[in-house]
Amino acid sequence: MLSKVIAQANVDHVEKWFERADKIVIVSHVSPDGDAIGSSLGLYHFLLSQDKTVHVIVPNAFPDFLKWMPGAKEIIQYNRYKEFADKLIQEADVICCLDFNVLKRIDEMEEAVKNSPGRKMLVDHHLNPGDFARITISHPNISSTSELVFRLICQLGNFGDISKEGAECIYTGMMTDTGGFTFNSNNREIYLIIGELLSKGIDKDEIYRRVFNTHTEDRFRLMGYVLYDKMQVFPQFKAALITLSREEQKRFHHMKGDTEGFVNMPLSIKDVCFSVFLREDTEKDMIKVSLRSVGTFPCNQVAAEFFNGGGHLNASGGEFYGPMEDAVALFKQALVKYEDQLLGKK
Ligand code: 5GP
Ligand code: MN
Repeated sequence: MLSKVIAQANVDHVEKWFERADKIVIVSHVSPDGDAIGSSLGLYHFLLSQDKTVHVIVPNAFPDFLKWMPGAKEIIQYNRYKEFADKLIQEADVICCLDFNVLKRIDEMEEAVKNSPGRKMLVDHHLNPGDFARITISHPNISSTSELVFRLICQLGNFGDISKEGAECIYTGMMTDTGGFTFNSNNREIYLIIGELLSKGIDKDEIYRRVFNTHTEDRFRLMGYVLYDKMQVFPQFKAALITLSREEQKRFHHMKGDTEGFVNMPLSIKDVCFSVFLREDTEKDMIKVSLRSVGTFPCNQVAAEFFNGGGHLNASGGEFYGPMEDAVALFKQALVKYEDQLLGKK
């Protein structure tokens, strides 16, 4: 039996809203990842089964390795179809906000969602949820929003309505947010849920291959270059840094998603417990910062304090506006400031 993680009052409230709603919009965060797309499409398939008019809208493009997902072709990119998306958001009875904690994370969509008369509900697993939604289902101890979507559907009493397609999407989100169940994945109930998803006929091995083993040669060459030439290791701080300029991304014909996971690679080195990846963004004039840690080192604190960001204890992100050398200098300042914690001294 799965424990009932979501408060019954919230489940009842959602049930009422879904019953009454006709038009439902699902939104997720900028640069959507596997969990953003997985949770959105998982809920999308469920709501379709309930005969609702549903649309999934995300701020911008998502990586190619998620495009196979059932329903992915129906996802509306706000940066490409703003007028149409604005109309859908404005006319929605209910807006489901998935996999983000504050409206800033949906970028250009923030105003449209904020100003819509649609009732807002949040389903998320990031720390510190904002108070923009009437129903807030926020569980930072749950490893993915996709898992929360599964739990919500089950608590609504609708497990039977989860289709194979919906199950594939939910599984993908659970798998990607745990690195293929290699981190944040010790909760036994995750495996009960996987069992239930398998009963829907999903092929989990095929999903793994489609997501993790279908990269382009360019991405692999870029990975080799990054590991050989660009990764700096700071053993005295148990830390590592990778930087990547726009020019370098161009040289390797960089496509959206090509650098996904790069920030994790240095953590495979014995004694590296903190890794930062600084990448010049190709859409905006900023440096995208990704941070990862193992154990108790709070990389979200570094993200918040130095890079105007946040996130989870072991996986966080932020932004930097300025030249790369200044971002690197800031990273080095962070190492000095956090030296004691990095070396495990309290
Ligand atoms: P990634 O490095 O994969 O882009 O992001 C990892 C995690 O960091 C995300 O799941 C999200 O929680 C957080 N994150 C990424 N970028 C930002 C950002 O700009 N601001 C905040 N507050 N969190 C971020
Ligand atoms: Mn997530």
